Amino acid sequence: MPGYELFGAQERKEVNDVLETGILMRYGFDGPRKGIWKAKELEQEICNTFGAGYTQLISSGTAALTTAMAALGIGAGDEVIMPTFTFVASFEAVLSVGAIPVPVDIDETLTMNPTAVEQAITPRTKAVMPVHMCGSMAQLDELKAICTKHKLLLLEDACQAIGASYKGKHVGTIGDAGTFSFDFVKIITCAEGGAVLTNKEEVYAKCDQYTDHGHDHKGKDRGADLHPYLGYNYRISELHAAVGLAQIRRLAEFLQLQRRNHSIIYNKLKDIEGVTFRVIPDPAGDTGSFLSFFLPTEEMTREAIAGLVAAGIGGNFYWYDNNWHYIRKWQHLQSGSWMHRFHEEQKKQVLHYTNQAFPVSDAIMSRCISSSISLLWDEAQAADRGAQIADVLRKVLAGGVVAG
Ligand SMILES: *Cc1c(COP(=O)(O)O)cnc(C)c1O
Repeated sequence: MPGYELFGAQERKEVNDVLETGILMRYGFDGPRKGIWKAKELEQEICNTFGAGYTQLISSGTAALTTAMAALGIGAGDEVIMPTFTFVASFEAVLSVGAIPVPVDIDETLTMNPTAVEQAITPRTKAVMPVHMCGSMAQLDELKAICTKHKLLLLEDACQAIGASYKGKHVGTIGDAGTFSFDFVKIITCAEGGAVLTNKEEVYAKCDQYTDHGHDHKGKDRGADLHPYLGYNYRISELHAAVGLAQIRRLAEFLQLQRRNHSIIYNKLKDIEGVTFRVIPDPAGDTGSFLSFFLPTEEMTREAIAGLVAAGIGGNFYWYDNNWHYIRKWQHLQSGSWMHRFHEEQKKQVLHYTNQAFPVSDAIMSRCISSSISLLWDEAQAADRGAQIADVLRKVLAGGVVAG
């Protein structure tokens, strides 16, 4: 899964370019920076690689979501429909602009169920935010049709799916805007960073301003820039952008390794009776960063997880028990444990929506295991791992207890 596994000479070279000049900031200092503009270069490279009209680099994926929402005009009291299975950043970003996260059920794609989305629409709904979880993609045709029909914004959280595509287009470029994260465990990393991709010039211009205190970047120097809107500081540094630049040039290599190892492991598990696999809306566009599968019952799934741990096979995620990725454990959100006061109306609505029961999502997530795929395994190691996982699953399915 993560680009950090292959950090090396290319990354060091790009960082050294910046260290040579000492200009660590992405704006200004035109003379001393001697033509080194890593953030600008990376933005161009992202546009070229993914076919996006415009890209704004940002200090994190979470800040990218916040920025995209602000630039799209999502704000106080607006409802944003999101899946029950995602990273906490999704609702954090919605809350940060004063909007209301409205969680809806997922299906066996592990992404939001379009029917559940349509049922959750109210007069206050402003946007639908699919999350392309674990390297694969949401059902974008269906979601796009719903957004068009109801005049809603489509904001893709593609933070975990850099390089995934859907029917020939890269995820993140299909909605009104899309976001990437380059945090340390993502498909490509720059330590901490993110991006908003969009084909709309106005959305891009607002992202550019929002992330730099409102600067319109049109003055003869920073002091002379105008500030048409309020903004914040979510800038990326040149050092971070430099690492990202080296990594994006290696994305094709990372994806090829991931997909190869993914298919080797899939082939070891595919014929086990009782194991079913995550539905991938466009299998050719999967990044292969995880192999996600289901067992028939929660009990068997728990036995399998225990069995994998007992056998010393790491990197298998049971999101149902994870504190960060599934609504069942978001008690801080559901109890309103916020450090600062929220507007009463916002708080009431958030508590209302996030305290619903989600038996359909529970039934899926409680039977799901996601096995992460390393870039470092050679073919024999991947095959060996696949065989070991298969062995544990077969024992569990045969009713044998594999771990105390
Ligand atoms: C990682 C992630 C984010 C946030 O990215 P950061 O760069 O860590 O802030 C947002 N959404 C999803 C689905 C993620 O996995």
